Amino acid sequence: TKETVSVLGLGRMGSALANALVEEGYEVSVWNRTPKTIPNARSVATPQEAFQSDVVVTCLSTYDVQQPLLTGEIKTLVNLTSGTPDEARRTARWAEDNGVEYVDGVIMAVPQQIGTPQARILFSGNENHHVLDAFGEPVHVGEDAGLAALYDLALLGLMWSVFGGYLQAVALMGSEGIEPRTFTPMAMSWLTEMSTLLPEMGEETQTRSYETDVSALDINVSGLRLLTEANEEQGLDTTLPKALHALFERAQSNGHGNHSIASVIEEIRK
Ligand code: NDP
Repeated sequence: TKETVSVLGLGRMGSALANALVEEGYEVSVWNRTPKTIPNARSVATPQEAFQSDVVVTCLSTYDVQQPLLTGEIKTLVNLTSGTPDEARRTARWAEDNGVEYVDGVIMAVPQQIGTPQARILFSGNENHHVLDAFGEPVHVGEDAGLAALYDLALLGLMWSVFGGYLQAVALMGSEGIEPRTFTPMAMSWLTEMSTLLPEMGEETQTRSYETDVSALDINVSGLRLLTEANEEQGLDTTLPKALHALFERAQSNGHGNHSIASVIEEIRK
C-alpha cells in the first residue's frame, strides 16, 4: 500500500502539490492556516494531526512561518518551502536531532506545471524521493541539504536579472512607441544566442585568465553609460543600468579594462 502523505500549506503551490498527490493515488491529509479543502483529501485541524502521516510535505511562504509549526513528531519531512541554504541546513540539523528523515526540495516550475514532466524538482539531502515523483521530474543535486536552495536562488537570480533587463528594454522601446510584440521575438533569439557564450565565460571565471580579442570591459563600460544616458533621456528609471554600470566600472578601475566581461566576477567574489 502507498504511504500516507500530508501537505502543510495550501497556497497556490501547496494546493497544486496536494492535488497531484491525490491524483497519484496517495491517501492525502491537508492543513492550512485558513481552512481550505482539496477534493478527495482529508482536512485536518492542526499540523500535529498532519504529522501522523508517513510523509509530511511543507509548502509555506517562508521558513519564519514554517518553523513554529514544526512541533511534534514527524517521520519524514519533505520541505518545499523556499529559503536560503543556511535555513535549509538548520532545518536539516533540527531534523537529524529529532529523528526526522529530511528531504529538501525546490520547485523550478509554476503551480500549473505540477504533475507534468516540465516541473523540475531539485532536491538535496536524503535520496529517498518517491513522493516527489508525483510533482514532476526530481533531480538530486547532492547530499548537503543546503544545495537545492543554492541552485534555486542561483537560477532565480539569473531569471530575475533577465526579466528585469527585458522589462527595461520593453520600456525603452515603448518610449518610442515600439510595441512588445514587435520587439520580443528579437529579444528571444538574442537571449538564445547570448546563452551560447556562457560555457566559455564560466571557464574563464575558473582559470581567471581574461585575455580577450572579442570585447573588452572598457567598451562594455562605455556601453552601459550609453544605456544609462538613453534611459535617462527617455525619462525612464535607471536603477538597473546604473547598478550594472557601477559594478562593471569598479572592475575596470581595478585593472580589468582590457579584459573580458568575465573579469567582473573578481568584483562579485569579494
Ligand atoms: P502563497 O502565498 O499562495 O501561499 C502561502 C502559504 O503560506 C499559504 O498556505 C498561507 O496560508 C501560508 N502562510 C503564510 N503565512 C502564514 C502564517 N503566518 N502561518 C501559517 N501559514 C501561513 O504562496 P505559494 O504557494 O505560491 O508559495 C509557497 C512556497 O512555494 C514559497 O516558498 C514559494 O517560494 C514556493 N514556490 C512557489 C512557486 C509559485 O510559482 N507559486 C514556484 C516555486 C516555489 P493562508 O492560506 O492561510 O494565507
